[in-house]
Amino acid sequence: MTAKPPLFHFDNSYARELEGFYVAWKGAQVPSPKLVLFNDRLATELGLSPNELKGPTGAAIFAGADSPEGASPLAQVYAGHQFGGFSPQLGDGRALLLGELVDREGRRRDMQLKGSGPTPFSRGGDGKAVIGPVLREYIMGEAMHALAIPTTRALAAVTTGETIFRDGPKPGAVLTRVAASHLRVGTFQYFAARGETEKVRQLADYAISRHDPDLRDAEDKYLKLFRRVVERQASLIAHWVLVGFVHGVMNTDNTTISGETIDYGPCAFIDAYDPAAVFSSIDHGGRYAFGRQPVIAQWNLARLAEAILALIEPDDLDKAVTLAADELARFPDIYGKLLLSGMRSKLGLVKDAEDDQDLIEELLSLMKDQSVDYTVFFRRLAETAEGKADPAAALFENTGAFVTWHNKWLRRLQLEDAQTAGLKDRMNAVNPIYIARNHMVEAALSAAEGGNYDQVELLLDLLSRPFEERPGFEANALPAPEDFGPYQTFCGT
Ligand code: AMP
Ligand code: MG
Repeated sequence: MTAKPPLFHFDNSYARELEGFYVAWKGAQVPSPKLVLFNDRLATELGLSPNELKGPTGAAIFAGADSPEGASPLAQVYAGHQFGGFSPQLGDGRALLLGELVDREGRRRDMQLKGSGPTPFSRGGDGKAVIGPVLREYIMGEAMHALAIPTTRALAAVTTGETIFRDGPKPGAVLTRVAASHLRVGTFQYFAARGETEKVRQLADYAISRHDPDLRDAEDKYLKLFRRVVERQASLIAHWVLVGFVHGVMNTDNTTISGETIDYGPCAFIDAYDPAAVFSSIDHGGRYAFGRQPVIAQWNLARLAEAILALIEPDDLDKAVTLAADELARFPDIYGKLLLSGMRSKLGLVKDAEDDQDLIEELLSLMKDQSVDYTVFFRRLAETAEGKADPAAALFENTGAFVTWHNKWLRRLQLEDAQTAGLKDRMNAVNPIYIARNHMVEAALSAAEGGNYDQVELLLDLLSRPFEERPGFEANALPAPEDFGPYQTFCGT
């Protein structure tokens, strides 16, 4: 009889190469693990066999109760600035890195459980997660992926059969997520704060081999690594802002080296355009408001620079500071250019014209003043390419101001070679019609809390093709009804 091949072909570089950066650990036992969502397409991409994993074997693995062959489950240590204050020790308090898989395209990807029980880094927390936030992260992450935004992915969600107390009794759950890595700005900060420069170097070398292998033998490789992270974060935030995404908890421990969006907690998509939009119940000062995200990302990157200064120029700290500051100073420019080109695409503009920035700012200011839905607007605007402003104008209280802007836009379109040919399709290909709107997500989550996953499945399906209009789903393209009221999201940890 031949032995059964393993379910996962793990190759665990973090466990192997970074001893001292984690604690080997095991998930908690749970009463009755049940798989409630499974991402077949992602599983296939990872070279896994969905059918084998969808039974009880998979449920026990994705709950953290059983460790699959080849896994080396561990809790990673990290630090982080949380709302501006430094916490020298955070770490995976309710997560376990099971191991790494090399996917079909040769990319190394972490497989991590979230909610699998307490670890030495739990700091008094129970190490658990509950169904609402688990599904929320699942839906948000997959929605962002479908919008072509770098993000961790969701592979599976299980309920554990446990009752967990948060703001009342909730069904316990575990999320399995997949990431390019779980290296955070906070991972560097942990070792830098302890003065462990060799460990910081080891970590930077690991980050380079994982995310920027072309820099391995480069001169000034640590400065260049920093440059790459600056570029990736600038690009990420531009992507967020272009679709109206508010992360909500941009702490340095939630800021990745890979440039992926991570740790979906109290995040949300804006409806009415508003740079001051805040949804998180814990963000009292509006530190992580929609429009502050670029500034905050740059602040977080400054914390990364501080953590690796000793690597950049070991014998001359002043020089290291200057070099890193120069790289950091490029952030606004990189971000600004990406945002401008993204906004041009949203407006159907292909060429660069000098006044585009003004045209965009004028529009955003109108939308802000008149609380116009950010997502609905661009789809409606695409309808007006033939010249009639009506479908979009109806979104504005003061139609006159909009019509003036609209005429400028029509004139600007005349600078394009193709003008209106294919304009609508071009715009609709970058402006989503369906986003993970708060009221839709909440409705799906409360149905799921009661054991009915139909709405969650439907939402996941709709959001998997966010640019494609589907008959019968008109209501899903609209903002929340008035009676939904102001929205707040909770960490739900
Ligand atoms: P997050 O809000 O998910 O970014 O987590 C911030 C920190 O709190 C991380 O170190 C988490 O591991 C930890 N944490 C969050 N929730 C829990 C929990 N229920 N039990 C233990 N640690 C937690
Ligand atoms: Mg976090």
